[in-house]
Amino acid sequence: MSQVNFHQGTATPQKVRFAVGSRHRIGEEIAGLGCSQALVLSTPEQSDVASDIAESLGGKVAGVYFRAAMHTPVEVTEDALSHANLVKADCLVAVGGGSTIGLAKAITLRAALPQIAVPTTYAGSEATPILGQTENGIKTTLKDSGVTPKVVLYDAELVTTLPPALSTASGLNAMAHAVEALYAKERTAETTELAIDGLRAFRQGLPRVLADPRDLEAREKTLRGAWACGTVLGRVGMALHHKLCHALGGSFDLPHAQTHAVVLPHATHYNAAVAAEFLRPVADIFGGGEPGAGLWQFAKDMDAPMALKDLGMAESDLDKAADIATTNPYWNPREIDRDDIRQLLQNAWSGRAPGIH
Ligand code: NAD
Repeated sequence: MSQVNFHQGTATPQKVRFAVGSRHRIGEEIAGLGCSQALVLSTPEQSDVASDIAESLGGKVAGVYFRAAMHTPVEVTEDALSHANLVKADCLVAVGGGSTIGLAKAITLRAALPQIAVPTTYAGSEATPILGQTENGIKTTLKDSGVTPKVVLYDAELVTTLPPALSTASGLNAMAHAVEALYAKERTAETTELAIDGLRAFRQGLPRVLADPRDLEAREKTLRGAWACGTVLGRVGMALHHKLCHALGGSFDLPHAQTHAVVLPHATHYNAAVAAEFLRPVADIFGGGEPGAGLWQFAKDMDAPMALKDLGMAESDLDKAADIATTNPYWNPREIDRDDIRQLLQNAWSGRAPGIH
């Protein structure tokens, strides 16, 4: 078991614990926050594991709410908030991936309830002060140090049920935060070191997770990677890769982690043209050649989704996607050229290696 007391900028410290079985210590953490009535949150798909956790908390549970959904719809947040008020919850326990942790953050934004996050994917939301919310089909993102969970318990046992395909996609989602942190304007020596640690953890851990999804050591390694990658996501700005994924996810309803997995090699290749030195760690960790190509081969070896067409995107939507992705672009190390982005999307759509015309 290990613990990190981590300061997020000016925010209060976040307690981070890595330990197999740490879910059995949630009660202690609730008491440590000075609380006694937790609302346990999850998606419908994870209600079993969340119910078990709620049951194990005995008198420290005020209620459960199992309707967390992707992209944090405001109507779900409002419903969950009413429930939290009804049962007089004084804290939140989020058991799940970015969707459940997003719900907890959204409730905290409105009701200032402290959160304990128990992450079960590699998305990394638990390590950031970022909250994306959807209202009337429009997703907006805010940054508020107050929404960062106070405690994060990484319990590798809970991740063993993450299916191999989702493990790979979620791992590549996390790695995308690290890749973009390497060339971010706000990067520091510390964020670069964390990003490299995160990438190495997935390079070493993911093949083992795929070989044996119940390998607890490999699962913990990848969770440490998720923490490192999530932490840099919270500390520096993201660029082209994240803009592309937000455009694709938001406008074409593509699945979050899988979209990141497909786009990452292509966005990395695009930026490597001007940021090769910053991306050298990616090249070194993933085969020694061109960084986008190295990530593409790693993703292929890990059976990741490789093509937007396989995620349900129509080829006829690529022009619209290129328009959206190049409107109000995020800061990016390489100038955003609409024709080049259109070509990038074509490659990502068809599943070709990056850079092929
Ligand atoms: P998710 O939380 O939506 O989970 C995907 C599915 O997998 C769900 O059905 C979930 O119940 C299931 N699942 C999760 N863990 C499981 C496990 N261990 N075993 C079996 N099933 C499991 O997916 P995600 O990719 O973690 O999160 C995506 C959402 O998080 C998006 O809305 C994204 O915008 C957000 N996000 C936010 C941040 C941030 O910093 N704010 C960072 C990353 C992602």
